[in-house]
Amino acid sequence: MSAGTIKKAKALAKDGVVMIDDDLFQVKSSSDQSKSYMVTSDSCDCQGFKNFYKFHHGKGLKANCSHIEAVKIFKEMSEKKSTK
Ligand SMILES: [Zn+2]
Repeated sequence: MSAGTIKKAKALAKDGVVMIDDDLFQVKSSSDQSKSYMVTSDSCDCQGFKNFYKFHHGKGLKANCSHIEAVKIFKEMSEKKSTK
């Protein structure tokens, strides 16, 4: 995970994530505000996520992208809020 991805994810977590269900989130694309992706804690329908499996298929690696990372940060932020 590059520093650029984490920076992007943090910005998205602040104002680009909408919670749809317990483990389903809508995350805005950071490059195109009119686009958004459906994201769970371990999957995303963006091109980067799909490409990861295409290139690393069968190697047991877990795909990641700025959207999944944004959801992770979003959850951490809301947990902190609810537990004080
Ligand atoms: Zn993604």
